[in-house]
Amino acid sequence: MPKIHQLSTTLSNQISAGEVIERPASVVKELVENAIDAGATQVDVTVEEAGLKTIKVVDNGSGIEPDDVPTAFLRHATSKIATTRDLFNVHSLGFRGEALASIAAVADVTLATATEPGLGTIAHIKGGKMLDQHSEGLRKGTQITVNDLFYNTPARLKYVQSQNTELNHILDIIDRLALGHPEIAFSLKNKDRVVIKTAGTNDLQQTIAGIYSVATAKSMLDFQGEDNDFRIHGYTSLPDTTRSSRNYISLMINGRYIKNYQLMKAFIAGYGSKLMVGRYPLAVIAVEMDPLLVDVNVHPTKQEVRLSKEDQLGALLTATIRERLGRENLIPDALHNL
Ligand code: ADP
Ligand code: MG
Repeated sequence: MPKIHQLSTTLSNQISAGEVIERPASVVKELVENAIDAGATQVDVTVEEAGLKTIKVVDNGSGIEPDDVPTAFLRHATSKIATTRDLFNVHSLGFRGEALASIAAVADVTLATATEPGLGTIAHIKGGKMLDQHSEGLRKGTQITVNDLFYNTPARLKYVQSQNTELNHILDIIDRLALGHPEIAFSLKNKDRVVIKTAGTNDLQQTIAGIYSVATAKSMLDFQGEDNDFRIHGYTSLPDTTRSSRNYISLMINGRYIKNYQLMKAFIAGYGSKLMVGRYPLAVIAVEMDPLLVDVNVHPTKQEVRLSKEDQLGALLTATIRERLGRENLIPDALHNL
């Protein structure tokens, strides 16, 4: 008797969902990234019970053709890459074709999408099964509603933390996505209350004002720098406006929020001895570079990437910040130590 068999699609999607969809904030991240990739200029997110009951994402992007709708929910199904070459030259946030399949495997999902105003498609998928697809009059764009996340994976549901914690993860994700895309107007509603709103005017400082506060945005210094491979720009706080964690430094590479300890360290090094021990600036750093120099296919959530010239980028960050702070009339270092 053979003992080895291939897992069913439903089961393999559930396994992959375990990697990609860790918590409600992961769903928000994947759906908003899809909206960004679809060229949306407005993305509105609504959550209920920290996303455990409902996550709704509405965009005014390209929409999905009726015939593509069932395919979009298959694993490894994507419109964003087609060849190995593309994999090393990714211009979109998504490319793995896993998110929709993963989300639909562990929740009750309704999709409403239209590529132009008029007849669009409504689809209902639950636990990986397509229950219904029909046409309906819709406006252009896509609306995805995710209900009862993890209803069929009790172990994962148990792992989810308090609603407060989960909501904070959602806020954090939308903050970073919005800071990485000042050209898009984002909103987040917790039930009926608006908790995040950005203008989408392509003005980074105004976006920072929407995410943090007007006063914070106004007090920050703008910076820019470039070398042969990288162009950087952004805003950073004066050494006297600091935070006790590195969490307020957002690093975006080609519009993708990433976590990179070395680059963050290099950025902070630009402050030299101007920061007190254990204090960190608040900053938004946008890096533009050739996608060929960055491997985003390292981790399912794509928050870790591999850069081929990381040290060079680090040096550029340090030098740019050092030079920018040098232009300000700051209190001499020595006075900080008194
Ligand atoms: P990926 O983003 O890696 O391609 P997903 O599973 O997230 O994979 O999405 C599958 C496909 O569905 C996408 O490649 C895209 O063509 C389509 N899609 C998903 N969300 C949207 C959206 N909001 N607007 C337009 N198309 C979408
Ligand atoms: Mg995606």
